Amino acid sequence: MKPTILDCTKAELCAAITPSFRAKQIFQWIYSQYVDDFDAMKNLPQTMRTTLQERYDIMPLHILNKEVSSDGTIKYLFALRDGKTVESVLLRMKEAQYDSNGELLHHAKYTVCVSTQVGCKVGCSFCLTAKGGFTRDLCAGEIVAQVLALKKDNNIAAERRLNIVYMGMGEPLDNLENLAKAITIFSDEDGLAISTKRQTVSTSGLSSRIDQLGAMNLGVHIAISLHAVDDTLRSELIPMNKAHNIASIIEAVKRFPIDTRKRVMFEYLMIKGKNDDRSSAKKLVKLLHGIKAKVNLIYFNPYEGSTYERPSKASMVAFQEYLIAHGLLCTIRDSKGMDISAACGQLKEKTDQEMR
Ligand code: SF4
Repeated sequence: MKPTILDCTKAELCAAITPSFRAKQIFQWIYSQYVDDFDAMKNLPQTMRTTLQERYDIMPLHILNKEVSSDGTIKYLFALRDGKTVESVLLRMKEAQYDSNGELLHHAKYTVCVSTQVGCKVGCSFCLTAKGGFTRDLCAGEIVAQVLALKKDNNIAAERRLNIVYMGMGEPLDNLENLAKAITIFSDEDGLAISTKRQTVSTSGLSSRIDQLGAMNLGVHIAISLHAVDDTLRSELIPMNKAHNIASIIEAVKRFPIDTRKRVMFEYLMIKGKNDDRSSAKKLVKLLHGIKAKVNLIYFNPYEGSTYERPSKASMVAFQEYLIAHGLLCTIRDSKGMDISAACGQLKEKTDQEMR
């Protein structure tokens, strides 16, 4: 199997081809013109097009299934070249706005949630992806391709910038090298030009890797899937917590180079009867003391076979009010895509069943 050219940073491509200035043109064809055939790159000499074709593929995945929610959320299942599958989600954060004369005031705003691994080693007890175990890391090109495919499929103009969250299948920091490379490729001005400030790495809390990511100084944000305030419950929800406990995560966050205008996002998955009470809210306030933090409360989205339950709206609101009253920023995440298989791993599971 040939490597995908999407796996190359522009610097790598410059080093691989002669003359090197052609790398910029190739990037523009792929990421601005959405061309997926080297032969269509008309400003390249024929000999170079032939060489590229011999050496590389372009897209390393194709759309296998997709579900569109009534709120505009679109969930994709992509097939990779080895037949493995991963999910990505396109979230429509804001609709386009027009004035009374039909002139465009604001473009629609999108966030793309991408996968970094096929399966996952972390084994969170509430996660369907975890149930299938770990298969392999995605290469950087396979991470990049998800966003490119979503932009193409939705006719999102090349110049429209998106936000990216590394929050799909897999633990991004367990695939740090390829993640860092994908971040660099995404932010290339001749590529998709998605600034690192628009990219958020969401981690289940591999504290030593948070330090490694911080040392790379890429300028990305981090979000921590905290979910619990004591190690016993957190280890039940996220077994890896035994090796990377809450205290070690909080210390790593304090060391992470954070843009002074930004806050660290702490994701808190509310599960009925497990972590949605007042005493958990109190402990959370104490734990985050001294960190410029924002807490995002997430409704647990039950799936077939799960033993956990969705909390009531009243308990979510009470929890939020307590945090706000004690000086924390706190939001309740929109349950976007509630009418489709929106939780990580659900569309894959459903498609696998249909294909059996
Ligand atoms: S929730 Fe994320 S980190 Fe946890 S098992 Fe699922 S994919 Fe892995």
